[in-house]
Amino acid sequence: MFQLGIIASGSKGNCLLVRGNEGAILLDAGLTGKKIAEGLDQLKIETAELKALIISHEHSDHIRGAGIVCRKYQIPLYITRETYACSAGKFGNLPAGIKFFEPGKTFRINDLIIIPFASSHDAVESSNFKILQDGNSNSQLGVATDCGYFTRLMKERLMECTTLVLESNHDEIALINGPYRWDLKQRVKSRQGHLSNHQAVSVVSQIIHPGMKRLILAHLSEQNNTPELAYEEMRKFLAEIQHELELQVASQYQVLPLQDI
Ligand SMILES: [Zn+2]
Ligand SMILES: [Zn+2]
Repeated sequence: MFQLGIIASGSKGNCLLVRGNEGAILLDAGLTGKKIAEGLDQLKIETAELKALIISHEHSDHIRGAGIVCRKYQIPLYITRETYACSAGKFGNLPAGIKFFEPGKTFRINDLIIIPFASSHDAVESSNFKILQDGNSNSQLGVATDCGYFTRLMKERLMECTTLVLESNHDEIALINGPYRWDLKQRVKSRQGHLSNHQAVSVVSQIIHPGMKRLILAHLSEQNNTPELAYEEMRKFLAEIQHELELQVASQYQVLPLQDI
């Protein structure tokens, strides 16, 4: 078993679940503890299965419920030192402990092998992830959100993913015409901001390979995008290159059920 479920994804809160044979991990906890508990219920995950919470960076849409989740399920918090240093006060007591990971350094949680790598984002030490499973050479998961542009490192890490969760944050025209203040528009568009629908297509065009079977567009902006716009731009591209895969859009409000990676 090597599965992915998404409890929520979007600018208002992110929480993913990856499940191996020997337990499951949460990737980010940017929702209330209550919402995460409801999501786990919907995914039918026994809380005893949870082994860890991994945090990608310190923005509140990724850490909001982190302390609560670690206490409630008695799981350790995995985080980089820099991220912890700038957000420690927000977690409260962590009885199951803190484990520091380093960008670029692989670590394991039971049969799951986690390869964190730096993303270009306006956070102190933001990470994206590649996740493998021990003994399973057929499947690789890539998770890349909160990135301003597609770096060479991202390309290397995401090259062989069979399932890819990729940011498709905004429609570039909707952002320009939308309600954000000018400085915030600049922030989103910058090389430390978020990938647009158009940039997501460009990323996929550079890493797609016959083994990629599932692509999940994620971290959509509620103000500057719609699931339809994101889906349609990617669908058109996939049709042009005649690559068939399962294309989905992760939602802020609906749990994406468990599926094989
Ligand atoms: Zn975010
Ligand atoms: Zn962020």
